[in-house]
Parts: sequence; C-alpha cells; structure tokens
Amino acid sequence: MNAPFRDPQTAGQVLDVAIIGAGFSGLCMAIKLKEAGRTNFRVFEKASDIGGTWFLNRYPGCACDVPSHLYSFSFDQNPDWSRAYSPASEIWRYQKATAEKHGILPFIRCDAEVARAEYDEAAGLWQLTLRSGETAAARALVAGAGILHVPSYPEIKGAESFTGKVMHTATWDDSYDLTGKRVAVIGTGASAVQLVPAIADKVAHLDLYQRTPGWVIPRMDYAFKEASKASFARVPFLQRLWRNLIYWRAEMLAIGFTRKPKMVAKFQKLAEDYMRHAIPNPELRAKLTPDFPLGCKRVLISDDFYPALQRDNVEVITDRVAEIRGNGVVTADGRLREVDAILYATGFRVTDWLSHVDIRGRGGRELIDDWRDGAFAYYGVVVNGYPNMFLLLGPNTGLGHNSVVFMIEAQVRYAMACIKWLWNGAGTVEVKKEVQDAFNAQLHEKMKGTVWMSGCKSWYLNANGTNSTIWPDFTVTYWWKTRSADRRDFDVAPAKVAEKVAA
Ligand code: NAP
Repeated sequence: MNAPFRDPQTAGQVLDVAIIGAGFSGLCMAIKLKEAGRTNFRVFEKASDIGGTWFLNRYPGCACDVPSHLYSFSFDQNPDWSRAYSPASEIWRYQKATAEKHGILPFIRCDAEVARAEYDEAAGLWQLTLRSGETAAARALVAGAGILHVPSYPEIKGAESFTGKVMHTATWDDSYDLTGKRVAVIGTGASAVQLVPAIADKVAHLDLYQRTPGWVIPRMDYAFKEASKASFARVPFLQRLWRNLIYWRAEMLAIGFTRKPKMVAKFQKLAEDYMRHAIPNPELRAKLTPDFPLGCKRVLISDDFYPALQRDNVEVITDRVAEIRGNGVVTADGRLREVDAILYATGFRVTDWLSHVDIRGRGGRELIDDWRDGAFAYYGVVVNGYPNMFLLLGPNTGLGHNSVVFMIEAQVRYAMACIKWLWNGAGTVEVKKEVQDAFNAQLHEKMKGTVWMSGCKSWYLNANGTNSTIWPDFTVTYWWKTRSADRRDFDVAPAKVAEKVAA
C-alpha cells in the first residue's frame, strides 16, 4: 500500500521542487534553490549515497577524462585537485564537500528511488511514487537522473552459464581480488581504456575483446605540485584563468566536430602519429586502427592504454565473441579461452533514456512513448506536455568535447528562471509545441554536418540513426541561448489558489 514519504519535515506538505538524482545535476539544482532562499525541496537519490556516476563507478582506474579544474562547479572551484585528471574517488569527495559546504545534505534522501512521477492536472502537482511505495507531491519536478547509469550487458549466447566472477564497470565488486586471475574484458570504450591499464599488471592474463577500435589521444596527466595548489588557493583569479584556458582549448574542438571536418583530419593525424609512436608492432597497430573519423565515437583519452596492450600477459582479440561457456569465452573461430572472471566494459543503456522512471505528463501521456523514436526537448530542459518538469542533461545536451558540468550549470539557471515564474503566481509553465518543434528541426539540421553523423555506429545514435544525445554546437552558444528563459516560448497559466505554496 502507498504511504506518504517518511520525512518529518515535509510530511503532508506539498514540496516546492522534487529533484530526482543527487549527482552533479541534482546537487547543482539543490544548491541554487538553497541560494534562492528555498528549503521546501527534496532530492530523491536511488543509491545509498550522493555523487551519481562518481559514487557508482568504482572500477580500478576510474577517473574523468575532462580536466578536474573544468569538470567541477564554476561557483565552487577546488584548488586542491591532486592531478590534471583526478580519480573518481576524489571527484566524489569534492561532491560530498560541496554538498556539505552549501548545506544541502539535509534535503537529500538516499535509498529513495523514484519509480513513477505523474502530473496531476486537477491539482497542478507532480505526484511521485518511490520504489518503496512511499509517495510525495511537488509543484515542480527536476529530473537530474543522468543517462549513464543503467549498465548494458550484451546478449551473448550462454552468458548466464559462466561459473566464474562477472562484473560490469558500473557494478564493481571491490571485494573481489583480481590478483593472479585470468580475466576477459569485453569492450574498448572510455571505461575499458581506464580499467585495462589499472589491472593489467595484477592479473595473470587479460583477454581484451574488441569489437570496434576507438581513436586514442594521450591524456598527458600530471600531479599538481603543492606550490601550484597553494597559488590557486591564495590567488583564485589564477585558478579561474587556468579553468578558462582549459575551457577554451576544449571549445576549439567543437569547430572541427561541428563545422570544419578538415580540422578533425588534423586531430586525427595527431592520433595516428601517437599510435605509430606508441605501438611499434604493425599487426597490433592495424587491429587498433579505427575506420571512422576521429570524434564520430567518443575520443578515448589515455596515456597507458596502448602500453598496457603490449604487455606479455595481455591479448587483444578482434574475433567476434560467439558464446560464453561455464569456464570461458568462445570466439567466432571456435576457440575457447578459459577465464576466472568476465569484466563487462560494455557501457550503458542510453537510448531508452529515463526509462527507469515512469514519467507521465498531461492526460497520462508517457514520456517513454513520446520518445520512442528518439528523445527530444527544448534546449534539453523542458518538454511540451510535461508542465513544470525540467530535465538536466536531457536530450541533445551531452558533449563530445567539453565539460557537462558547464552544461548542467546553464540548465539549472534556465530551470530556475522558469521555477521563479511559479513562485511569482504562475501555476503551470509549459514550452509551446511549435517552439519545441522548430528548435528540434533546426538542431537536427545542424547535426547533419557534424562528425557524429559521419557514418560510425555509436551510442550517441538511436536505432533509427537520429542523434538525441549530443549538443551539436559550441557550449558557449548553449550558455548564451539559455542565459534566460523567454516567456514567449512558454504557455504560462496562472495558479489556482490551492497551488500557491509557501517556500
Ligand atoms: P561505451 O563507450 O558504450 O563502450 C562500450 C564498449 O563495449 C564498446 O567498445 C562496444 O563496442 C563494446 N561492446 C558492446 N557490446 C559488445 C559485444 N557484444 N562484444 C564486444 N564488444 C562489445 O561504454 P563505456 O566505455 O562504459 O563508456 C560509456 C560512456 O561513459 C562514455 O562514452 C563516456 O561518456 C562515459 N565515460 C566517461 C568517462 C570519463 O572519463 N569522463 C569514463 C568512462 C565512461 P562497439 O564500439 O563496437 O559498440
């Protein structure tokens, strides 16, 4: 039986805002609500702690391939990053410290997975049902659930018959000791290039099953000296300058990815040179050479992936995985390689976006149905038919070249502008369908000439070949266009008296 959410502070009350997810998106939203003087909001997090991807992903080597000084909040810069590319655990500690500093921890409920969010038109409220059966009501819903957290396991004949250890990079079991084990790693994406070097010297043997090679560019990671950290702490301007340099260097990539394919060819030449230098063996080099332009699939950034592949105990296997048996992996040529553990680095279920939450808008329409042929929204934040709902890192706001934290901050600012209309007498805020349609037509027109549509198969694309993942332009353009919400883009209806809720 359903029961109101157990929360002494909100029992029986209507929340001002309900936020799904306590990763970078949900944390940013909560911080900005608190800064605006609001406290009648709650963040519902399905995991046992905050942090999102940086709490859930604990595989060896996990780090962010965007420099830490940029992959962090602009309003809370951390002078103490240990490395250019800090490990996942450090990013998670940063998130915890930031949440604590801004006083938002009391507003977060962990182990509280939202199973359903339904817009109740009569009441003008979002009705939430948690997996536990508890319920909550809110005037506005912010979905900051991210897209990279539902692990994807390939359908391989006999996979369930394997008797050894099975782990996915996103469901890592720290207690399993890989020392001296024979392991199979399936996949060669961004997670695999971090995992493989981190375990290669520990395991007895590592079989890496590669279906498609990716372009790799060197990360050139380094540790920050104490003196640099002290300078950043003492002179915040220096850190802002550093962050800006990294930002604009990354932004330059967008020119090649979206407008000037010749520039991509230059980047690709750098990757080819790096490969020639790092992999003297022509046979291995041939196996690892992609047949699509750099950038089409996510560029892999690593200093130690290529060296790891040349270890005596590592084999790169390009034959298709045909079957899994109780004791190992069988390739299409019929060869069985016995292993103790299978490590899936096979990514996430991205195309069925937000499918783990049953979201229903006006008239009971289901988001999963509306998005059956590809997710869409207006600037990735608002969707017609779903009043007072705001998405963070929604459709077409992912990046292949810069920091998504930058996008999140722009989206939170935009959502806050709309939510303020609710605080000032509006009952519903809903983007107009014609505005949303025109925006998406333009976006997909722009997408046509980009590197992401140049012919490779990637998780950026839906089954029908449309790209509802990537923002096909500069992030600075996104920032500029979303700097304020234009009321003319929305149907804004006045609140009924009952909807007016105090902060
Ligand atoms: P991914 O990029 O989707 O890579 C999955 C890998 O598994 C691909 O190489 C894929 O091959 C392979 N694969 C899938 N099914 C297979 C099968 N049946 N047989 C053999 N190989 C198979 O997943 P990911 O590496 O976890 O990365 C996902 C995303 O997470 C990244 O793109 C990135 O956005 C994010 N990420 C970010 C960081 C970071 O540092 N910021 C780190 C890790 C992940 P195909 O290419 O042929 O499909």
